[in-house]
Amino acid sequence: MTQPRYVIGYDVGGTKLGIGLASTDGKLLGSAMLPNKDTYPEDVLPEALRISKQLLADAGLSTKDLAAFGISSPYPADPVNGIMTAPTNNKFWRNVPIRKYFEDNLGIAGCFENDANCAALAEWFFGAGRGCKDFIFLTMSTGIGAGIIAADKLVRGKGFFAGELGHMVVKPDGRYCNCGLRGCYEAYCGGRAIAMHLQAELRTMPENIMVKMVDGKLEDIDMIVFEKAVRAGDAYAMEQWDEMCRLNAQVFGGLLNTFNPERLVLGTFAWAIGDLFMDPIRKYLPKYCWKQTLQDCELVAGELKREMAAYAGPAAAINFLKEKGEL
Ligand SMILES: [Zn+2]
Repeated sequence: MTQPRYVIGYDVGGTKLGIGLASTDGKLLGSAMLPNKDTYPEDVLPEALRISKQLLADAGLSTKDLAAFGISSPYPADPVNGIMTAPTNNKFWRNVPIRKYFEDNLGIAGCFENDANCAALAEWFFGAGRGCKDFIFLTMSTGIGAGIIAADKLVRGKGFFAGELGHMVVKPDGRYCNCGLRGCYEAYCGGRAIAMHLQAELRTMPENIMVKMVDGKLEDIDMIVFEKAVRAGDAYAMEQWDEMCRLNAQVFGGLLNTFNPERLVLGTFAWAIGDLFMDPIRKYLPKYCWKQTLQDCELVAGELKREMAAYAGPAAAINFLKEKGEL
């Protein structure tokens, strides 16, 4: 058994920057959150560095003990050069060479990955995907993204777009998606798109329970209101919910027959909503994949939940060492 090594990681989100210090055998040794709404990188990065050193000191370590760092970044980005080009949630972060910043200031090598891949790596090393060689994680909240682990490796694709599952077309010429295509999976099953769709349809249904729940303020209708309406037994909400779950099953079935994973781990909706979300998907799944691929696969909710930001960066760093053959 080799000695565990230490890694640090950064998850750059639109409202928070998560920092995590971990050991390569899957233990989180410390974490911190920095506010990151409408910030400037020249303020936030030195602060992240200072907190990193503090976390190391608190664990009785220093930067010399680090084997690697990892950065979890939203897209669009330049993953080859480790540059955050134009993140949609951070309007003052433009062409930020974040990987070089940490290379120079920590004096070690590190990696830059998109946040959906990092979430999958985090569940793989620290959460619901532990021990799997074939495993898929799906971010399911405002948008939908996937991180695919196949044959013990993260699948990135030629241009680093592998896992852009939210933009697989499920309805030709269907709803417009903000990616430019029509009929994307995310346009039907992503939280933001569902809210927009319900708000538009409910304009002509003033008597619906959802409209009453928000006192007529249609812009307040979101996944939480939708879920409550389903739990209250509203016929329209239940029909829409059923269609959403059926479409999820259709896409998951495709994944099961394509990758034959041993575990399919679902993000936010799965753990925040629970059986109301999972049960109909389980009911419909046999229509969309083979019995054998279904038997091979466990469908579960993610374990890291709101702690994801602490694990995403260190997980990328662990994978970086693994890909270099150092773990
Ligand atoms: Zn799309």
